[in-house]
Amino acid sequence: MSATNLLDLLPAEIDSLTESLGAPRYRGQQLMRWIYRQGVTDFGRMTNLPRELLQALQERARVAVPVVERRTPSQDGSQKFVFRFADGARVQSVLMPDGDRLTLCVSTQVGCGFGCAFCFTGAMGLERNLTTGEIVGQVLGVMGTLTAGQRLTHIVYMGMGEPLANYAATVKSLRLLTEPQAFGFSPRRITVSTVGLVSGIEKLARENLRVNLAISLHATNNETRDRLMPVNKGFAIEELLAACRRFPLPFRQRMTFEYVLLDGVNDTPHDARELARLLKGIRGKINLIPFNDWQGAGFARPPLPRILAFQSVLLERGITATVRWSKGEDIGAACGQLSEAVVA
Ligand code: SF4
Repeated sequence: MSATNLLDLLPAEIDSLTESLGAPRYRGQQLMRWIYRQGVTDFGRMTNLPRELLQALQERARVAVPVVERRTPSQDGSQKFVFRFADGARVQSVLMPDGDRLTLCVSTQVGCGFGCAFCFTGAMGLERNLTTGEIVGQVLGVMGTLTAGQRLTHIVYMGMGEPLANYAATVKSLRLLTEPQAFGFSPRRITVSTVGLVSGIEKLARENLRVNLAISLHATNNETRDRLMPVNKGFAIEELLAACRRFPLPFRQRMTFEYVLLDGVNDTPHDARELARLLKGIRGKINLIPFNDWQGAGFARPPLPRILAFQSVLLERGITATVRWSKGEDIGAACGQLSEAVVA
């Protein structure tokens, strides 16, 4: 029987596990405190648990935090982590400091099957989904490297993969991140980014998770979006934005729309006006992401004046639009740049 990874379990499931091992349920809460408060993953160091329970845990369970295989600092202060899992698969996570904020960008799949034309991760195809434990394991793994006084403040699901295409593991990981007995993050500090899987957005709307949603839009007409993002052939812009309008946004929360600016493709003032028109009536803000180059991409970043002109059109129409100069560009960790070979 393979050992259960405790990072795959919600608090009630850990309580049931400890009960099934002959210990009272409250031992499960002690176990979670060791893992999530103290960062202790070795059962031998959990000194307040009875010996019989520890022995049973050694035989039946594990706390599988993925191995940090590589850690690459960027000149801008961000760090790229390459995590390796037991089967040799690797993903990347990116830690980004910004003033008081310390944001971790996590991956949900090894590679990605959506094939967005401008994305390096998409070029590697989908290897496999991550488990819940492998998603939250990235958070624990990075927490283990923080110095005294450093604290993760925000989590974004914008790394490798499409979170809503790995729906069950993503949702369970969100529950663990927001569960007070586990990570205890406020849902307001967590953002799930999606390529625009309407079915997934509608399911997520019913989960009552209250996390932020970011939509990768990247085009203002179906013809361009079909070309940039094959998912658009299944869920066209109108259908996607209708799902966004129906999404139950918590009070004072705004939906984020990501828009990668590609030279000569989607960066004209007309595109900006169209974008403003499409988003009318949605409580949202726009992140403009000047394209991050990678070898063989076939796209280029627009010149600065065009980027600023695009932003101005949106601002003039009262829309919050921020230009996001991605962090970690020099280490291949910026938006759309993440990729990692998988060892056999
Ligand atoms: S942009 Fe996101 S959904 Fe598209 S290929 Fe890249 S990782 Fe996948």
